[in-house]
Amino acid sequence: MLIVQKFGGTSVGTLERIEAVADRVIETKKSGADVVVVVSAMSGVTNQLVEYGEHFSKDPNGIAMDLLLSSGEQVTTAILAIALNAKGYPAVGLTGAMAGIYTDEVHTKARIENINTARIKSELSSGKIVVVAGFQGITKGGDITTLGRGGSDLSAVALAGALNADLCEIFTDVDGVYTTDPRIEKKAKKLATISYDEMLELASAGAKVLQNRSVELAKKLNVKLVTRSSFNHNEGTLITLEDNNMEKVLVSGIALDKNQARVTLRGVIDKPGIAAEIFTALAKKNINVDMIIQNVGQDGTTNLGFTVPQNELELAKDTMSSLSAAKHVEYDDAIVKVSIIGVGMKSHSGVASLAFETLAREGINIQMISTSEIKLSVVVDQKYGELAVRVLHDAYELDK
Ligand code: ASP
Ligand code: MG
Repeated sequence: MLIVQKFGGTSVGTLERIEAVADRVIETKKSGADVVVVVSAMSGVTNQLVEYGEHFSKDPNGIAMDLLLSSGEQVTTAILAIALNAKGYPAVGLTGAMAGIYTDEVHTKARIENINTARIKSELSSGKIVVVAGFQGITKGGDITTLGRGGSDLSAVALAGALNADLCEIFTDVDGVYTTDPRIEKKAKKLATISYDEMLELASAGAKVLQNRSVELAKKLNVKLVTRSSFNHNEGTLITLEDNNMEKVLVSGIALDKNQARVTLRGVIDKPGIAAEIFTALAKKNINVDMIIQNVGQDGTTNLGFTVPQNELELAKDTMSSLSAAKHVEYDDAIVKVSIIGVGMKSHSGVASLAFETLAREGINIQMISTSEIKLSVVVDQKYGELAVRVLHDAYELDK
């Protein structure tokens, strides 16, 4: 039995917390499993390092920046290894490079290309607990790289895949994945299981528990993933392949994304190539367009609306002002996106109509709608966002 356990920033935020992590790892080791531990930097450290790095330049040298950013994880890795040894459990701490994690050369957001597991395997077979620094790797040329913010989840999943681990446990400061944000709806329930696809949709809809790339990779490598709290022993949420049982579940969760803004173009000339012109211009600026609606044209013109992340709205405004197709543009950042997610939507009709009826009964106007196989999203006025989440949570009986 091999278990990969990943501990995030708050879980290793102080020396006391690191000691608690050591005890938790020892518990697992005592149960007879081999353990590979992946750690983040202490909470707040990576942000601080980014600030240092950007002090002299908005676009700092990539090799140097990654040398800097990777240091946070190196510290926690070393301290945890020292703590485990001091408690009588032989352990070795490895940087990403020592652990054989090879990436491409894209500094500060590198992709893992392959993992040479020889060193980890030989340490494990000599009975050691192996602690690996998350969020980092090394290029073929020998430069340290980092994997993008939140990247230690990805390190853990990639290692679990490469080592064929039986389980990858992601420890954070929340108990698992909930039917919705418990701060919005007190009746929210922790889910025992959720499918990879639902998890991906929940994350893209604004529920941040795991880094999205790590869930995608877990799905691809079929890594059995559990997210749970390092602050208690409650069972977490298992993220796994969709099974037959799950299909009986109509809706698994409701997510609220407050980070959206709406752009509306009125009187756009209704002819081929206009949408291409607008969305190509946005794509060139790397603006993440999410929902798009276009009305049926009338009198040779049409209206076109789309949403972008709020922090990209200024850039979207700049982009629109450079386009002749966009003469009358309106912007609204007082909107939110509410999403209903569930694999059961594939095989059941009526999921959407229940949402529309529920929102209508509350007098909540729907500004935009989009659907995918397992998700229904609506854009509503931000002042109704939390209310919408609560009434939908009730309508789909997620508290039951
Ligand atoms: N320390 C890195 C970050 O804050 C990686 C991680 O925590 O996953 O982004
Ligand atoms: Mg993290």
